[in-house]
Amino acid sequence: MPDLEISYVDDLPCHRCAATLVCAMRVPHSFVRADGFEVRGVRTVGLCPMCDNENPAVRAIFEHIARHGEPDRAAMLELAALVGEAAMRGLPEALDEELLRAAAAEFVRTTP
Ligand SMILES: [Zn+2]
Repeated sequence: MPDLEISYVDDLPCHRCAATLVCAMRVPHSFVRADGFEVRGVRTVGLCPMCDNENPAVRAIFEHIARHGEPDRAAMLELAALVGEAAMRGLPEALDEELLRAAAAEFVRTTP
Protein backbone atom coordinates (compact mmCIF):
# COMPACT_ATOMS: atom_id res chain seq x y z
CA MET A 1 0.00 0.00 0.00
CA PRO A 2 1.39 3.44 -0.84
CA ASP A 3 1.99 5.94 1.88
CA LEU A 4 -0.99 8.09 2.58
CA GLU A 5 -0.94 11.48 4.12
CA ILE A 6 -4.08 12.24 6.03
CA SER A 7 -5.10 15.52 7.50
CA TYR A 8 -8.19 16.61 9.29
CA VAL A 9 -9.65 19.71 7.78
CA ASP A 10 -12.56 21.86 8.70
CA ASP A 11 -12.14 24.80 6.37
CA LEU A 12 -11.94 23.24 2.93
CA PRO A 13 -15.02 23.28 0.74
CA CYS A 14 -16.04 20.24 -1.26
CA HIS A 15 -15.51 20.92 -4.97
CA ARG A 16 -18.59 18.86 -5.73
CA CYS A 17 -21.23 20.31 -3.41
CA ALA A 18 -19.47 23.10 -1.44
CA ALA A 19 -20.13 21.41 1.90
CA THR A 20 -17.24 21.47 4.35
CA LEU A 21 -14.88 18.54 4.04
CA VAL A 22 -14.23 16.43 7.12
CA CYS A 23 -10.91 14.97 6.12
CA ALA A 24 -8.45 15.23 3.27
CA MET A 25 -5.96 12.67 2.06
CA ARG A 26 -2.94 13.26 -0.06
CA VAL A 27 -2.58 10.12 -2.09
CA PRO A 28 0.60 9.39 -3.99
CA HIS A 29 0.07 7.85 -7.37
CA SER A 30 2.26 6.98 -10.28
CA PHE A 31 1.99 5.56 -13.72
CA VAL A 32 4.47 4.46 -16.35
CA ARG A 33 4.42 6.26 -19.64
CA ALA A 34 4.72 4.47 -22.96
CA ASP A 35 8.42 5.33 -23.09
CA GLY A 36 8.99 3.66 -19.72
CA PHE A 37 9.34 6.86 -17.69
CA GLU A 38 7.56 6.68 -14.35
CA VAL A 39 5.50 9.75 -13.59
CA ARG A 40 4.86 10.37 -9.92
CA GLY A 41 2.43 12.75 -8.39
CA VAL A 42 0.18 13.37 -5.45
CA ARG A 43 -3.48 14.11 -5.58
CA THR A 44 -5.64 15.39 -2.81
CA VAL A 45 -8.82 13.51 -2.08
CA GLY A 46 -11.38 15.22 0.07
CA LEU A 47 -13.88 13.25 2.10
CA CYS A 48 -17.20 15.00 1.98
CA PRO A 49 -19.98 14.08 4.41
CA MET A 50 -22.53 14.85 1.70
CA CYS A 51 -20.95 13.33 -1.41
CA ASP A 52 -19.12 10.35 0.05
CA ASN A 53 -21.78 9.05 2.36
CA GLU A 54 -22.69 6.21 0.00
CA ASN A 55 -19.40 4.49 0.64
CA PRO A 56 -19.48 2.44 3.86
CA ALA A 57 -15.70 2.43 4.07
CA VAL A 58 -15.66 6.21 3.97
CA ARG A 59 -18.43 6.29 6.52
CA ALA A 60 -16.23 4.20 8.81
CA ILE A 61 -13.63 6.95 8.52
CA PHE A 62 -16.15 9.59 9.54
CA GLU A 63 -17.23 7.49 12.47
CA HIS A 64 -13.66 7.00 13.54
CA ILE A 65 -13.01 10.72 13.41
CA ALA A 66 -16.17 11.43 15.34
CA ARG A 67 -15.13 8.92 17.99
CA HIS A 68 -11.57 10.09 18.45
CA GLY A 69 -11.65 13.80 17.81
CA GLU A 70 -8.07 15.01 17.72
CA PRO A 71 -6.18 11.79 17.04
CA ASP A 72 -3.21 10.41 18.88
CA ARG A 73 -0.75 8.19 17.04
CA ALA A 74 -2.68 4.99 17.59
CA ALA A 75 -5.86 6.59 16.34
CA MET A 76 -4.05 7.87 13.28
CA LEU A 77 -2.76 4.39 12.49
CA GLU A 78 -6.24 3.00 12.83
CA LEU A 79 -7.52 5.79 10.62
CA ALA A 80 -4.87 5.04 8.03
CA ALA A 81 -6.01 1.42 7.95
CA LEU A 82 -9.59 2.54 7.40
CA VAL A 83 -8.48 4.87 4.63
CA GLY A 84 -6.55 2.06 2.98
CA GLU A 85 -9.62 -0.13 3.17
CA ALA A 86 -11.74 2.64 1.68
CA ALA A 87 -9.27 3.01 -1.16
CA MET A 88 -9.48 -0.69 -1.93
CA ARG A 89 -13.19 -1.18 -1.50
CA GLY A 90 -15.31 -1.70 -4.52
CA LEU A 91 -18.69 -0.30 -5.27
CA PRO A 92 -20.64 1.67 -2.72
CA GLU A 93 -23.24 -0.22 -0.78
CA ALA A 94 -26.36 0.83 1.01
CA LEU A 95 -25.74 3.49 3.58
CA ASP A 96 -27.02 4.55 6.91
CA GLU A 97 -27.42 8.22 6.24
CA GLU A 98 -28.61 9.06 9.73
CA LEU A 99 -25.50 7.55 11.22
CA LEU A 100 -23.27 9.49 8.88
CA ARG A 101 -24.92 12.80 9.57
CA ALA A 102 -24.73 12.16 13.29
CA ALA A 103 -21.06 11.26 13.01
CA ALA A 104 -20.25 14.32 10.94
CA ALA A 105 -22.23 16.59 13.24
CA GLU A 106 -20.48 15.13 16.27
CA PHE A 107 -17.14 15.67 14.59
CA VAL A 108 -17.91 19.30 13.90
CA ARG A 109 -19.24 19.80 17.42
CA THR A 110 -16.18 18.33 19.13
CA THR A 111 -13.55 19.94 16.91
CA PRO A 112 -12.14 23.21 18.21
ZN1 LIG B 1 -19.53 17.26 -1.35
